[in-house]
Amino acid sequence: MTANKFIQKLLKLKGLFVTDFQFRFREKALNLWVKPHKNGCLCPRCKRRGRLVRKMDAYRVWRDIPICGWSVFFWYCPREIECRRHGRIQEDIPWADLYARVTYRFEYVMLVYCQLMTQKAAAKILHIPKSTFSDMLHRTIARIREGHRIRGLKTIGIDEISYCKGHKYATVVYDLDRSCVVWVGPGKGRETIDRFFTEQLSDYQKRQIKWACCDMSAAYIGAIEHHCPNVTLVLDHFHIVKALNNAVDEVRKEQWREASIDERKALKGLRWLLFKHSSNRSKKDSRILNTLRKGNRRIHRAWVLKDEFEHFWEYNAPWAAERFLKRWTTTALKSRLEPIRDFVKMLRKQMHRIITFVETKLTNATAEGLNRIIRIVKNRASGFRSLPAFTDMIFLTVGDIDIPAQIPSKFRTL
Ligand SMILES: [Zn+2]
Repeated sequence: MTANKFIQKLLKLKGLFVTDFQFRFREKALNLWVKPHKNGCLCPRCKRRGRLVRKMDAYRVWRDIPICGWSVFFWYCPREIECRRHGRIQEDIPWADLYARVTYRFEYVMLVYCQLMTQKAAAKILHIPKSTFSDMLHRTIARIREGHRIRGLKTIGIDEISYCKGHKYATVVYDLDRSCVVWVGPGKGRETIDRFFTEQLSDYQKRQIKWACCDMSAAYIGAIEHHCPNVTLVLDHFHIVKALNNAVDEVRKEQWREASIDERKALKGLRWLLFKHSSNRSKKDSRILNTLRKGNRRIHRAWVLKDEFEHFWEYNAPWAAERFLKRWTTTALKSRLEPIRDFVKMLRKQMHRIITFVETKLTNATAEGLNRIIRIVKNRASGFRSLPAFTDMIFLTVGDIDIPAQIPSKFRTL
């Protein structure tokens, strides 16, 4: 076996011959002079053989996966060919995309590593400076996602997510049936979400959307009901529970402010206890909460209301749920607790969008799960300064297309 062939076998090079090699000790690089199998000369667009016009005089260099500390580079002088259909064009490079400066193999490894670790770590393993790395990643993902259209969207979830310390927000649209992210846009207002509906979806697609789930933000509700004529909107269970919990907490804070030092002792450590769902409460927790009946009537009243509201989520018949909600809101209004009354006002305004939950049982729980993954990615990188970098990582980890799987299968070596 010749040395060239040995290197070819060792590095599992497919679709190309090694014609020469050279070790550069100072740069820790292995340079390989290569040429395509079967003499190449294929058109990059139609993959048909074209007529050779001329050899270009400049070498092009592609970076491959590093091996044992050596950076590996392919050197090749591409030729110009004439295709019957596409005219004069540079021949197809079997190991890399037309304008890429790295091989398909490198792109695949880069994408898989970035799903698993920070870009910084992946850049280090692949011997690339961090600044060039995110650029490279962005170009690869942009190329793979180019021309991709959203398809088969029936159930959507919309939520906001912060991506930077200075309260910068992005709006994320989920496909709740397939549990993936289909779109990310800057901001959390009406213009952002309008852009999604006008730029990404056709009129037919908008009519196909049957269910939607979002929080109580007027921008999201307005946009969904404006753009999708056949939609049933469900307000997200998680956000409603959170709003009620916040109202109860407001009552607690009010009481804390007014309490004397002795009274404060009894109110200590209540916060998380009040938030707990009745099913996860221990006997001790219940005892503490029951002592409030004598200790602090207002907090106790707020807590009882919150506990009663939990039953709403268990109803199966809309009429029964509606009756329950009406009765509950009447009691809650009589409570003379200002934060709770504000919650009730919101509830009354959104009543028809909350009752729909009983029929559909639709929640943003899938979206919350995806959000958790997104948060892990964000924290791993200690935040993202720009939205495009963050969007890349979202699409790579929880996007609607499996990005590494788009690399031709024979280059998916790891
Ligand atoms: Zn062609």
